[in-house]
Amino acid sequence: MANLIKGATGDWEIVVGLEVHAQVTSKAKLFSGASTGFGAPPNSHVSLVDAAMPGMLPVINAECVRQAVRTGLGLKAEINKRSSFDRKNYFYPDLPQGYQISQYKSPIVGEGEIQVDLSPTESIRVGIERLHLEQDAGKSLHDQSPTMSYVDLNRSGVALMEIVSKPDMRSADEAKAYVSKLRTILRYIGSCDGDMEKGNLRADVNVSVRKPGAPFGTRCEIKNVNSIRFIGQAIDVEARRQIGIIEDGGVIEQETRLYDPGRGETRSMRSKEDAHDYRYFPDPDLLPLEFDDAFVEALKAQLPELPDEKKARFMRDYGLSAYDAAILCAERETAAFFEEAALHGGKKRDTKAVANWMMGDLSAYANVHGLSVAEAGLSAGALATLVDLIGEGVISGKIAKDVLAMLLGDDKGADPRALVKARGLLQVNDVGAIEAAVEAVIAANADKAEQARTKPGMLGWFVGQVMKATGGKANPQSVSDLLKRKLDLP
Ligand code: ADP
Ligand code: MG
Repeated sequence: MANLIKGATGDWEIVVGLEVHAQVTSKAKLFSGASTGFGAPPNSHVSLVDAAMPGMLPVINAECVRQAVRTGLGLKAEINKRSSFDRKNYFYPDLPQGYQISQYKSPIVGEGEIQVDLSPTESIRVGIERLHLEQDAGKSLHDQSPTMSYVDLNRSGVALMEIVSKPDMRSADEAKAYVSKLRTILRYIGSCDGDMEKGNLRADVNVSVRKPGAPFGTRCEIKNVNSIRFIGQAIDVEARRQIGIIEDGGVIEQETRLYDPGRGETRSMRSKEDAHDYRYFPDPDLLPLEFDDAFVEALKAQLPELPDEKKARFMRDYGLSAYDAAILCAERETAAFFEEAALHGGKKRDTKAVANWMMGDLSAYANVHGLSVAEAGLSAGALATLVDLIGEGVISGKIAKDVLAMLLGDDKGADPRALVKARGLLQVNDVGAIEAAVEAVIAANADKAEQARTKPGMLGWFVGQVMKATGGKANPQSVSDLLKRKLDLP
């Protein structure tokens, strides 16, 4: 097994289960009409409900419920037709109610499963334990004043989906791939934007170690890890810490820990003995949620095509490799852009070429500018035309690179066909003209031409010279054919 860690007493296996908190995409909060907008001045998005004024009553936001059900469907999970809200009681300055409204015994979504891609051709299945809806807390600000702490309640009451996995992952890489796939699915569905930098997706990481085949060990939970890279680092660091303790004859205490990326270590936050007793009880202000089949079926019917299905269809319909299809389907907008370019004008073109341009020059440009391929500034129609121009022999692939650079630069929005004409970039297919260029190059390099007769590998050099002489516009196939004839090469 590839995933094992070598210890002093033999091999160890890592066991990981994740609790992911995903902020629900919704204009309003879970139980109030206040805005969820990011970056507003502190305490400007706070209703009386969010501030927990006495006598205020929560009213469930139907959009958040729909988003949770849609997500459950995307996770191939059981939708619970009846679920209920509970109060999770604890005191914290950023929690004015003194409790968080969450779902405990009866979550809105039950067991499901995700296919997690470890490489374009290799995947594992990770079980989903449950998905429940809950409120986010506010935020204490300790850096605004030397003597006081402040509280910002803008986030207080924003809807979160907590998505709990089964302990099915066996390495940091598997856990990273899981979060990445979960994020892709959420973004496809549109129920969470997956923005980890804004904290809209964050994970509690449960880690234990065991000897292969042994029962599960005691786990530690690493709270609130907010990047995929840190999730991987935290798992490896924590697993080594646990192995060290066990191999020194100690035992793992179940506890909550924090990962410090600066020091590359996890440290204890609270032990099981200090674990909160949350005194969960059903929230008397909220009725249970009850759906009928028609409600769920309607949401199912409107669900977009999901990443796994899209990838399979791209391989089938466009003849793409698993690798290409996986890259193009990682983001819904990128996949849509590919399809639009591949089928632009109602005809199916060289789809492999469309994929190559997207994954090559176009994504190189997009990456440099921190954009997605679809946002890079080239329309799908323009890419389609570019690919057509090459296919029709109007321009060479080399010239096409220049044309693409123009279309992404000063000639944004131009029609590639018109641009090629206007700039005199048409490929020279005129055999007479190419022959003249070939002869000129051979004449100017008589010594090399002599060598080429015994060293056929020099053909490439000659092709390069002729292309240079013609400003890259000569049809490379004709150049190569003519050179072979004139140099007497096979
Ligand atoms: P709790 O209710 O105490 O939080 P759960 O059963 O809900 O416990 O588990 C929380 C998370 O911990 C889940 O994601 C689960 O997969 C994971 N988990 C449970 N047992 C282990 C273990 N032995 N090692 C690693 N992760 C585990
Ligand atoms: Mg839990």
